[in-house]
This record gives sequence, structure tokens and C-alpha cells, in this order.
Amino acid sequence: MAAVWTFALARLAGVLVLGLILGLFIGPVWVGVLVAFGLYVVWQLRNLYMLDRWLRLRSQLDPPGVGGIWGEVIAQVVRLHRRKQYHKQRLAQLFRELRRSTAALPDGVIMLGRHHEILWFNRRAANLLGLRRPSDVGLRIDNLIRAPEFVRYLKAADFAAPVVIRPPAATETYLSLQMVPYGAGQSLLLARDVTRERRLEAMRKDFVANASHELRTPLTVISGYLDTLAEDSGLDPAWTGPIRDMRSQARRMNAIIADLLELSRLEATEEEAGYEPIDVPAMLARLQRDGRARAQRRHEVTLELDANDGLYGAPQEIESAFTNLLDNALKYTPVDGRVQLRWRVDAGGAHFSVADNGIGIPAEHLPRLTERFYRVDSGRSRSQGGSGLGLAIVKHVLQRHGGRLEIESVEGKGSTFSCHFPAHRLCAASVRTDTVDAQPDRM
Ligand code: ADP
Repeated sequence: MAAVWTFALARLAGVLVLGLILGLFIGPVWVGVLVAFGLYVVWQLRNLYMLDRWLRLRSQLDPPGVGGIWGEVIAQVVRLHRRKQYHKQRLAQLFRELRRSTAALPDGVIMLGRHHEILWFNRRAANLLGLRRPSDVGLRIDNLIRAPEFVRYLKAADFAAPVVIRPPAATETYLSLQMVPYGAGQSLLLARDVTRERRLEAMRKDFVANASHELRTPLTVISGYLDTLAEDSGLDPAWTGPIRDMRSQARRMNAIIADLLELSRLEATEEEAGYEPIDVPAMLARLQRDGRARAQRRHEVTLELDANDGLYGAPQEIESAFTNLLDNALKYTPVDGRVQLRWRVDAGGAHFSVADNGIGIPAEHLPRLTERFYRVDSGRSRSQGGSGLGLAIVKHVLQRHGGRLEIESVEGKGSTFSCHFPAHRLCAASVRTDTVDAQPDRM
């Protein structure tokens, strides 16, 4: 580059010297220099014009064949252009491959803009959701997918888990939709057909429900005979022990079947629980009485009512959940232990807790406690007549009421199981007593 510039300066100097000599021979010196300089400027302007013309019509013209500094500038432009062209082609190829691979995905993919408007979708998404190209591009996704579950999902903006909907056109189909936010407010909407999984799940649930139902009658007959035998005064004393064991096992089986049926019933409906007013303080007073009777003075059962309000929900389900928690506290707390029931209300909603100073639960078991048949110590649970389904039932009941279960426990010290209900499930004491039949305000 430096050489080119030296050459350009030398050329300018040469032109000026030539002008000087010309001026010396044919007139005043300054006229000769001015003429030479003028010609030099005209030549540079011509080169500039040719460069400009070539830049404008680059696709049709060859680069101008000028040398020196202009030639160097043109070569630089050509190099830059080639590099840009190369990157452009690579980018286009990458984009094509990306589109082709996304189009070939077995799941539907929809690219959404800042306002959830459709930017692009693959063929599978078009099939699953009935989208049309190009008429649907640019439309907001919630105008096209109007399932209430999906509209709620978008509004809540909690995209940790997918939402399952039934597209209106295909009543037998279930679609799982998952938003994946990225970039500046954009997101991908992934759509998957989960009909098969749903059907298998429904078959499994039906099977459990039917099997439990079928087992119930024979078990009732066996239990009945065992009860009669146990009361028979002429029974050989050698049979007293075995019959007692058989009765206790039959009771356990009855408890398991009852819990399985309860769980199946809860799972059968995906809708949230109804909004019947429930007098929770009265329910808890009753539970405390029953608990005391069951504990037979072996445990102290106390009730702390910090609020008079109740809940809107399904009374039987709520009672079943609270009873399960109280039963567990009594089961897993040694003699002379303390079980404390508490009901309180705050800005976040309503809270019921059962605290005991029993055997507690090692921390590693806490995350899995609500799984069906999960027991920390299966021997102890069985000996206490536990089905291993109680906490699964509690979790389901709370889910149906928009609530959640929180478990705190220290091994050897005790446990606290808390049920948290959202504020819109709260039924103020005044509403409950004044208008028990009134329609509640649902949020
Ligand atoms: P189970 O019928 O076995 O009690 P649950 O689903 O009600 O089944 O409880 C699951 C397991 O959680 C129990 O087996 C027990 O190990 C543990 N657990 C539940 N409540 C308590 C508690 N209050 N204290 C200690 N362990 C508990």
C-alpha cells in the first residue's frame, strides 16, 4: 500500500514538474503548472467517475482497468464484496438447513413475535393446528387457538410446563402446547400430539378403578365372614390369632381399595373443584374431636383457629385431605406426642397445617412423599394400616382447589404438613352465615 502511495505522489510531482517546464518554455510559469494540475485533477475525476459507475452497476460491469491507487481501491472493494458474498451464501445455506430440519421435526413448531403474532410455522404445526399459509402468518396465536386452557396459559405467562388442549376440529385428539421464550420477547410454540399417551393413561386409570371396584365385593364378603367367625364363641382358640391377623389384613385391603377408588375419582375429572361454601372452623372442630377419640388420650390434639373464614370447594374432598393429614400425624407420632391443627388466613390465601412432634421424615424422602405407594418405612406404614396413598390423595385434592401441599420435617423431631389455598377460594365468615346458597364470586 505504501508503495502505491509513493508512486501516486511521485506521479503528482512528475506532472507538476512537466507543467513547470512547459510554463518556462511557452509563457508564465504559473500557467504551465496550473494547466498540468488541472489535467491531473480531470484524470482523477475520470477515475472516480469510473469507480462510482462500477459500484452502481457492479453486477453488469467488469471492474475498470485502472492502475495505481485507484486499482488498489478497486481490488479492495472486490475483496470485500467477495467476502460478503461468501458469508451471505453461508448464512442463507445455514438458514435453509435450519428451516428444512425444523420442517422435518415430528413436532409442530411456530415462531411467534413480541405480541404472539405468527412469524413462521412448520408443516406439522399446520397439520396439528389447522394453520394456513400465508393467510395466518401475522395473526395472533390466541386468535387462532381459542381453547380456554391455552388462553389462560398465555395470560399466566408461566411456561415451565406444557398445557394440554383438545383442538375443536378433532375432538378425539389431545395436543400438548409448550411456549419457549427466547430473544427479545419472541417465543417458539411447540405442539405435540399426545393422544396416544392420554389414551394409555386413561386406560391405566380405568383399569385401576375397575379392578378396585371388582375387588370390593369379594373383600366385603370375606370381611363379613371373618367378623362373624371372630364373634363365634365356639371357635377353637387356636384360630383366634390367625383370624385376628386376617381381619386386620382385610381391613388394610379395604383401606387400600377405598383410597384407590378415591384417587381414581379425583383423577377422572380434570376440571377444578366446585365452589360450595365450606365451614372450615366447624369441620376442624369435628376433626379434632374425632382425632382425640381415635388417639384415646395417647396424644394431645390441639386446634388453633386464627380465622373464622371458610373455603369455597368440594367439602368431601377437603375433609378427606385434612383427615388424611391428621391420621398420618397420629400414626407417626409416638405415645404422649402432640398434634397441632392450625387454620389461618392472610393476604396470600388460607392455610391449614398439621404439626406433630413425631418420628419426622429424612430430608431425602420429602420430594417423593406424594407419589402413590411411596413410604419412608413400608413396615411401619403397613403395621399402622397405611395404604401409601394418603398423601397422593391430599395432593390431588389441593390441585383441584388451586392449592399446594408443603411438607417440612426433621427426622426425630416432627413434621408439619401445610395446605395452602389461593385467596379466591376464601369464603368469608359473613358470606357463609348470611347467604350459604349464594353464588360465590369466582376470580
Ligand atoms: P401411608 O398410608 O403409608 O401413611 P401416605 O401417603 O399418607 O401413606 O404417607 C406416605 C409416607 O409418608 C408414609 O408412609 C410415612 O412414611 C410418611 N409420613 C406421612 N405423614 C407423616 C408424618 N406426619 N410423620 C412422619 N412420616 C409421615
